[in-house]
Amino acid sequence: MSERFKAILISRDEEKRQSVAVTELTEADLMDGDVTVAVEASTVNYKDGLAITGRSPVVRRFPLVPGIDFAGTVVSSSNPDWKEGDKVILNGWGTGETHHGAYAGRSRVKGEWLVPLPEGMSVFDAMAVGTAGYTAMLSIMALERQGITPARGPLVVTGAAGGVGSVAIAILARLGYHVIASTGRTSEEAYLKGLGATEVIAREELSGPAKPLAKERWAGGVDAVGSHTLANVLSMTSYGGAVAACGLAQGMDLPTSVAPFILRGISLLGIDSVMAPKARRLEAWKRISTDLDLGKLAAISTRIGFDGIIGAAESILDGKIRGRVVIDMAGAK
Ligand code: NDP
Repeated sequence: MSERFKAILISRDEEKRQSVAVTELTEADLMDGDVTVAVEASTVNYKDGLAITGRSPVVRRFPLVPGIDFAGTVVSSSNPDWKEGDKVILNGWGTGETHHGAYAGRSRVKGEWLVPLPEGMSVFDAMAVGTAGYTAMLSIMALERQGITPARGPLVVTGAAGGVGSVAIAILARLGYHVIASTGRTSEEAYLKGLGATEVIAREELSGPAKPLAKERWAGGVDAVGSHTLANVLSMTSYGGAVAACGLAQGMDLPTSVAPFILRGISLLGIDSVMAPKARRLEAWKRISTDLDLGKLAAISTRIGFDGIIGAAESILDGKIRGRVVIDMAGAK
């Protein structure tokens, strides 16, 4: 008899109405894969909020365990790269979308999806970073490949008090950048400056319709918001700058013109964390372990238990979560 563990399961009825419940599963219920992991920590990302509430069609196979990332310990493996006892991280690859995800005591996945937990990081540190923080790192690496350095001028971070934004600020500040944080929660100024932001600006400065070109304010930025905000960020980027677009908190549209590209030579860099190749993931996690002050993660993260996941999913969509939520998965054993 296989051991039972708790899981969150999203189901859909004949009328395609989605529901979410806590249930019990065994390893026999898990999907195909060559590595089984005891899930010890996870997190609630914006995408997990969309999946659990059903506000966006993130889940594309039913019933499904949501949760797009986890950290834990390998309990069995037929993959030569992994053995019992290895500490691992998983981000994306369709987990929590088409493959049973993180919100269960165990997860079975393809070994090639896993990366090793970096030396010196706990499973809780890794999930305080999570997909949001790893996406922030991918964004910064993309800006660097485009030649952006602190000497080029300030960088703007939008959605600053959210997960991607908070980690991006902490890393950019540590790398020596002058960081301008754009937030709808100006009450969080002390939090954002504590992470390393030099200036904090109100979200409203960027959320309305953009001019094709506006006064140059920054060398580029990390945009977690999309829509008019990204259009404004582009129109205010100085000559030859670059902007990494990784999110859509305001909207999926991009009401801009070609002016920033053809008159100022600006580059718009697309960031996808889900299918990013393994070599880039390994580089991102290595950089996180050296370029992110782990002390800052404590300020960024709030820890909850397995029972708090569904409530946190609602809160993240309401913009009520500051920084990162870390789930201690002990309650799912
Ligand atoms: P969070 O909810 O933690 O952060 C989003 C932040 O955006 C909020 O905290 C808020 O920041 C701001 N925001 C929310 N609503 C609006 C709005 N209507 N207009 C302007 N700003 C708004 O989410 P994450 O940080 O986890 O993710 C951010 C975005 O990045 C999401 O869209 C997510 O889907 C995307 N993402 C993409 C990935 C990829 O692979 N490309 C991977 C991970 C995330 P504040 O209160 O400071 O204004």
